Amino acid sequence: MALPQQRPILITGGRVIDPANGRDGIFDVLIADGEIKAVDQSIPAGSLDGAVRVIHAGGLVVCPGFIDIHTHLREPGFEYKETIATGAAAAARGGFTTICAMPNTDPAIDNAAVVDYIANRAASVPARVRVFGCVTKQRAGRELADMEELISAGVVAFSDDGDPVYDAGLMRLALTYSRDLGVPISNHCEDHELCPGGVMAEGWVSSRLGLAGIPAVAEEAMVARDISLAELTGGRLHVAHLSSAGSVAMVRQAKERGIPVTAEVCPHHLLLTDAWALGGKGDPNVAAGPLAYDTYTKVYPPLRTETDVAACVAGLADGTIDCVATDHAPHERVSKECTYHEAAFGISVLETALGTLMSAVHNGDVSLPTMIERLTTGPARVLGNGLSQYTALTPGTPADLTLFDPDAAWTVDVNQFASMGRNTPLDGVELRGRVAATIAGGRLVFEEPAVLNKGETA
Ligand SMILES: [Zn+2]
Repeated sequence: MALPQQRPILITGGRVIDPANGRDGIFDVLIADGEIKAVDQSIPAGSLDGAVRVIHAGGLVVCPGFIDIHTHLREPGFEYKETIATGAAAAARGGFTTICAMPNTDPAIDNAAVVDYIANRAASVPARVRVFGCVTKQRAGRELADMEELISAGVVAFSDDGDPVYDAGLMRLALTYSRDLGVPISNHCEDHELCPGGVMAEGWVSSRLGLAGIPAVAEEAMVARDISLAELTGGRLHVAHLSSAGSVAMVRQAKERGIPVTAEVCPHHLLLTDAWALGGKGDPNVAAGPLAYDTYTKVYPPLRTETDVAACVAGLADGTIDCVATDHAPHERVSKECTYHEAAFGISVLETALGTLMSAVHNGDVSLPTMIERLTTGPARVLGNGLSQYTALTPGTPADLTLFDPDAAWTVDVNQFASMGRNTPLDGVELRGRVAATIAGGRLVFEEPAVLNKGETA
């Protein structure tokens, strides 16, 4: 990301929540030359030259820019679903200043040339783009990719996401290398043999709709295997998109035993249940009528039960789950306008993430500072702190910030998305909590005037 600089920005009167510095209060923030210049109780605009842009942020939260360590950008190979440019624009609209590209592209990100290609394509997009490399060559699960070459090329972690690292021996080897390389192996935990043909969570909804189920144990069996391998090797296991109550319990216990494991959860797994497949936007009283089999609810891991949602929310609140990650998975229309069995797995998440997450805050289940921690320092810590310079509002560090209105109610309209992926079950749903502005590298990369104006008039 190397965009031309803009004039200095002075943000006044916002509630600054900066978990890395333990700060939560009303402060002014001055940004110039791409950096945070000052954070103070009062920075008079008169003391600056007239070229400064003043943003009155009364009623808004001002925090470090969000980091997403699980973004499917689809480029190279699937540019009809998303490009690096459209994905980065969606990130900016969602308040994310750093996103991590997953390697299930074509070609897969298993060598330095593909990493370089993505870095070049990301050079002038409105978000910082970091790259995950494959664990195995071509994500085929047969032999390890050249992990040292990929590290030299700049990857921040490894994953075969979209598929698990199925071979336990290879996973053991990868974790052993991860210990020495100092970066995590993010595994998409799913034992295929336990869910052949499965398209949604196994339970009463799948039975009622006559759809093949995916039992929670398909995830949990591999989480258990990987925790054992992390304990054996001392390698750094990261559980991608953890989604079941059983997985949360295992990760909690593993951490108590000092095993080097971290975990992420997706916004949709903190709010939606399998009942959404019935077509009533989650209302379990809605009979499975003409809106049932809503393919926009098809995602991997699947939407599960209220018990699982509650366990994921509790795990995020108590730190068992280190961070939120979107698993933003944009798809073109025809991938979803088909039968539930044929439809692609995945939800376009970047632009609805904050509004979805804020429901857990408004419900009183997760505090606002904790939620911000799980979107900033949490994900940076998972990657080993290579991103920590972007997670604190400290003078002299790069100015990556998100401004949002925690209370603003708005209705999701996929036609407004910057993402090419319009695939979300939340279209038409009202959420509370909306991004007002996103600043990346000192540059205003997104602003929503209707929300920013609240600060102007507060
Ligand atoms: Zn995955």
